[in-house]
Amino acid sequence: MRCLYCQQQFLPPIVWRELFSLQVAQQPVLCQACQQQFEPLAPGCPTCGRPQASPSRCQDCQRWQQHYPTQLLHNHASYHYNLAMHDLMVQYKRYGDYQLALVLQTLIAPAFRKLEYDYYVPVPSAPEHLARRQFDTINAIFAGLVPLSPLLEKATGTSPQGEKQRRARLQTPQAFYLRPLVGSLPPGARYLLLDDIYTTGRTLYHARDALQVLDPQAKIESLTICR
Ligand SMILES: [Zn+2]
Ligand SMILES: [Zn+2]
Repeated sequence: MRCLYCQQQFLPPIVWRELFSLQVAQQPVLCQACQQQFEPLAPGCPTCGRPQASPSRCQDCQRWQQHYPTQLLHNHASYHYNLAMHDLMVQYKRYGDYQLALVLQTLIAPAFRKLEYDYYVPVPSAPEHLARRQFDTINAIFAGLVPLSPLLEKATGTSPQGEKQRRARLQTPQAFYLRPLVGSLPPGARYLLLDDIYTTGRTLYHARDALQVLDPQAKIESLTICR
């Protein structure tokens, strides 16, 4: 087998369960050396998944609690945003390397085995970024895993979170709005917002607020690859 990330050939470990499954080798794979660079998150903040020793809410969530006393956003995250993950994300977003979308897809795929929602809503990029990269970086990762409902859009001229300092990120104004809908969606449905990184939470809280306009009874959570 050839590793999707480093392109080296390797012998995949035999998993007995897979020998009897029809899903054998359907998912692209990473070699052990690459896989080990990415650190799965141990239980941390119960609300956003931030890595920490304490089982209580993290500082970010405590701050959000002041803004949203009864509506904290529950985020599911799979990996620590370590140096290897940072490098992978930078390479993916800066150079728009589509192959890396498959690497990220492979890494996040197991998370969906335990999650079930009615709608999976990708957090959109600004139109100028779509034009520059020629593809949507979030859709490219998640489209192969779950059916996507692109219910949100992002206004032009809103710079990406990654290029800003923490304080500036938190002060970013709301840039998301609902796409005009063709039909109506069932009330009280379960939505999962999909994004790559949870940094301060600002982006995801804005996306959640924009989506909540659709249905105040909607149950909205989020999933990010890293925290
Ligand atoms: Zn590799
Ligand atoms: Zn938290």
